Amino acid sequence: MPLILHKYGGSSVADSGRIKNVARRIAKAKDAGNQIVVVVSAMGNTTDDLVRLAYEISEFPDDRELDVLLSTGEVVSSTLLAMSLGSLGHKAVSLNGAQAGIRTDSSYSRARILNVDTERISCELEKGNIVIVAGFQGVTQEMDTTTLGRGGSDTTAVAIAAALKAGECQIYTDVEGVYTADPRLVPNAVKLEKISYEEMLELASYGFRVIHPRAVELGELYDVPILVASSFSERSGTVIVKEASMEVRNKVRGIAHDTNVAKITVIGIPDHPGIAMNIFEPLTRANISVDTIVQNASIEGITDLTFTVARSELVKAMSIVEPVAKSIGARECSASSSLATVSIVGTGMENTPGYAARMFRALYEVNINIQLITTSEIRITCIINEDKVGDAVRALHKMFDLDVT
Ligand code: ADP
Ligand code: ASP
Ligand code: MG
Repeated sequence: MPLILHKYGGSSVADSGRIKNVARRIAKAKDAGNQIVVVVSAMGNTTDDLVRLAYEISEFPDDRELDVLLSTGEVVSSTLLAMSLGSLGHKAVSLNGAQAGIRTDSSYSRARILNVDTERISCELEKGNIVIVAGFQGVTQEMDTTTLGRGGSDTTAVAIAAALKAGECQIYTDVEGVYTADPRLVPNAVKLEKISYEEMLELASYGFRVIHPRAVELGELYDVPILVASSFSERSGTVIVKEASMEVRNKVRGIAHDTNVAKITVIGIPDHPGIAMNIFEPLTRANISVDTIVQNASIEGITDLTFTVARSELVKAMSIVEPVAKSIGARECSASSSLATVSIVGTGMENTPGYAARMFRALYEVNINIQLITTSEIRITCIINEDKVGDAVRALHKMFDLDVT
C-alpha cells in the first residue's frame, strides 16, 4: 500500500471547523487506499500565545520549561485531529515527538534532529491506523522535550518522509503553492509549478516563510520531493525537486523579503588583528546568528564594523557586543531595528552580469536608499528601511518580469 505524508500548518487547523476539513481530506486519501502519516502544527497562533504567556510569568523563562510548554500546542492539534478522524469512522492515533521517535540534540528552542526511529509509526500503520504526529518537537537522549525552532513542523514532516521513504512530502498551507513573491504583498505574484531545492532554500532563508529552510535542506539531502499546496482547495501546488525545467534557468525565480532584520554598528575601532574574532566569538557562543558583515577600510588605523542579526535577537546581541566594543577600545555601538531585506534569487544569475545593476535601478526608481548589499552565487540582497519593503518587492517583481510567465 502506498505511503503518503501530509503536513498541515497552523492556519489549516486554526479552529474546529478547519480541523474537521483536514480530517475529511485525510479520510479521502485513506479511502483511496493509502497508508497515511500526518504532521500537524499548533492551532492558529497558539505558539505565539504560549510564548507570550511564558514571558508574562518570567523575564527569562527557563529554556527546558519553555520547550515543554511550546510543544503542547502541537499535542492539542494532533489529538483533536485524531478524534475528528475517529468520528468519521477512521482509526487514527496521535503521537507526540518522543512517541514518534524524533530524537534530537539538546539545544532547546533550536534542536536539530539526530535521527527518526520509525518503529512506533510503522507499528501503528501496520495496525491500520492513520498516524498523526505532533510537529515541531523531539526528545533528547535524556527524554527531555525539545522544539526545533519556529516553523519547525515542516522539518518534522520532511524528516519523517525521509525516514519512512515516502515518495513525497505534501505540505498543506493557506496559499496554493510557492509564489514569485509573498502574495500578501504582491497581488499579481504568480504560482510556480516547480522550483529547485537550491533556489527554494535561498528563498526560504531570505523570507519565503511558506516553508522552513531546514525542511528544504533535508528534502535535498534525502531526495524527498516536497509538494506545497493549499488545504482549502484541490488545485495543484508547487513541487520542490532537484532541477526545475530548463527554460526557467535564465530567470530570477522570486523576490523574497524579510522584516526580522536589525543592524549593529561598532564605530571607531582601533584596527588590528583579532577585532572580528573578539566581537563574533561571544555571539556564536550565545547562539546568535550573524548574517551580513561589512568592515570599512580603515582610515588612520580606525575602522567601523557593521553586521545584521535577527531583530528578535537584537537586545541579546547588543548586551553582548556593547561590553566587547568597550574592551577593544571602540568609540561607540549603535543599533537600528526598522530594517528589512529584499532579495532576488535565481540560478540563472550564476555567472551572468547585469542582474545587480537592474536591481539597483529598480530600487532607485522608487526612491529607495540601499544601506548594505550582500550576494551569493544565486542571490542578491539589499538592506533597506522597513517602511519601503512593499514598494521594493513590487518594483523588483516588475523589473524582473515575474508577473509575466
Ligand atoms: P502555515 O500555517 O501553513 O505553516 P505559514 O504562515 O507558515 O503557514 O506560511 C504560509 C504563508 O507564507 C502564506 O500565507 C504567505 O503569506 C507566506 N509567504 C511568504 N512568501 C510566500 C511566497 N513566496 N509564496 C507563498 N506564500 C508565501
Ligand atoms: N507551531 C510552531 C510555530 O508556530 C511550529 C510550526 O508551526 O511549524 O512556530
Ligand atoms: Mg509554517
